[in-house]
Amino acid sequence: MIMMSDYNNWKIKKAEDWKSSLKKRLVEYCRSLDIEYVGIAPAEPYLDFERIWLSQIRKGHMSGFEEKDAAKRVYPELTLPDARSVVVCLFPYYSGTADQGNITKSAYSLDYHIIAREKLDMIARFLENCVDDFHYKAFVDNGPFSDRYLAYRAGLGFRGINGHIITEKYGSYVFIGYILNNFPFEPDTPQNRTCHQCLECVRRCPGQCITGDFTINPTRCKSYLTQKKGSLTREETDIVRKTRLVWGCDVCQDVCPHNRNVQPTPIREFKTDLLYSVDVEELRKLSNVEFRKRYGNRSFSWRGRDVLIRNHETIHSG
Ligand code: SF4
Ligand code: SF4
Repeated sequence: MIMMSDYNNWKIKKAEDWKSSLKKRLVEYCRSLDIEYVGIAPAEPYLDFERIWLSQIRKGHMSGFEEKDAAKRVYPELTLPDARSVVVCLFPYYSGTADQGNITKSAYSLDYHIIAREKLDMIARFLENCVDDFHYKAFVDNGPFSDRYLAYRAGLGFRGINGHIITEKYGSYVFIGYILNNFPFEPDTPQNRTCHQCLECVRRCPGQCITGDFTINPTRCKSYLTQKKGSLTREETDIVRKTRLVWGCDVCQDVCPHNRNVQPTPIREFKTDLLYSVDVEELRKLSNVEFRKRYGNRSFSWRGRDVLIRNHETIHSG
């Protein structure tokens, strides 16, 4: 005679087997898209992140681009009420360094938001075909959570003093995207290590804004300042002037020993249609409509041409 408890245990075991086989199929599917780094973060309150974030708020160390509602950064159910896990993917983008370029490496390719989002949607469609009533919300840079924190929780990399998430193979030159969803994938384990802590990034940072506790003060970060609207203060001007990039800043990544000898990206879209510089003389001649037509598919276009021109003038005057 089969006991009810045996039957229930058998059902639970079956469900667990199916869950873990779906995770394997998810990883295989991601590999077919050249996504090697995929992991699962839990969809539970991120209380350790909350402590860090509240401290950043107290210190005024916010860029203004983050989700304004602090609770939404911590509690996944405020974004998806029946959230059970987060599929986190890394998209390596390193394709070499253009010594004479004037934009960050992360902007060489066509807009990574679009490229990564398309891949996340393909993954979500794959899961929709496998799971009844699968639903999700996918984000690339526009989600409520800290994407680096999620990548860490999903076991995809370790934390750098410069605030970046670092991988063995591609260093920190990775974009992060995630799919908050209602399937209870088993979470992965965070890596029990940090960067070498050589502090080279701290010494070389143009804004002197790497605090030494794995966070930064974005209000002095050149990367954020080149995206800021309006006029720059004297102090901000001095920071932006320190290197030649008119969009972004790569210093804390370029000097990091973990980024020596990194592999180039395997993702075709990040190796083609590359642009290393914007020509500011050309920008001056373009109307806003012409600018959007010519550069609308680039990640630096969202702030418009005036900010790029301002940055160029800031760097080349005085
Ligand atoms: S991006 Fe540049 S300014 Fe910002 S923390 Fe890194 S080195 Fe400093
Ligand atoms: S440069 Fe050194 S301290 Fe900074 S993130 Fe890399 S290993 Fe860590």
